[in-house]
Amino acid sequence: MTDQEMNAHQQIGLLISEDVERLVADRMIGREDLQKVIYRAESTAKKLINLSTGRSLAYFRPKAVFYWVEYSQCDDGYQVHTAYSHRMVTKSSGSSKEWVKTGTETDWLCNPCQRPLEVQTVRLQYMQSIFPIDLPACSGCDFVLVAEDLATGKMAEAEQALEDK
Ligand SMILES: [Zn+2]
Repeated sequence: MTDQEMNAHQQIGLLISEDVERLVADRMIGREDLQKVIYRAESTAKKLINLSTGRSLAYFRPKAVFYWVEYSQCDDGYQVHTAYSHRMVTKSSGSSKEWVKTGTETDWLCNPCQRPLEVQTVRLQYMQSIFPIDLPACSGCDFVLVAEDLATGKMAEAEQALEDK
């Protein structure tokens, strides 16, 4: 990789309101993390699109942490609506065909597959523990949506509890 490619994400212009800026800082998410998520999502098209709001949602996992950003395109770049992170991994071993579908479709469309996510039973893994959980996921490519309330609520609590063991 050349330096130019490594720093390409820095060209991503961000529009962030004060409230969101504060929230993101509280969550220990840096400006570059936001840029990396958006850069990667826009260059690979691997993202979700909300059918009612038109906003995009994507994640990037540079190390042990998943960073998610909800954003939309604006004149000078991208407006960041929210961002959050988690460490739990959506378990990809095993086929998505084993997932139990509940038949509930969501507003989120998988951009590469052009199909709506459906709520299904998937597995989350953290350290030695595996949890089954119902989450919106794409049956075409195994993209699992970890929503903000889950990542900052139950998931954060479980991560903390496991680390304290
Ligand atoms: Zn997909």
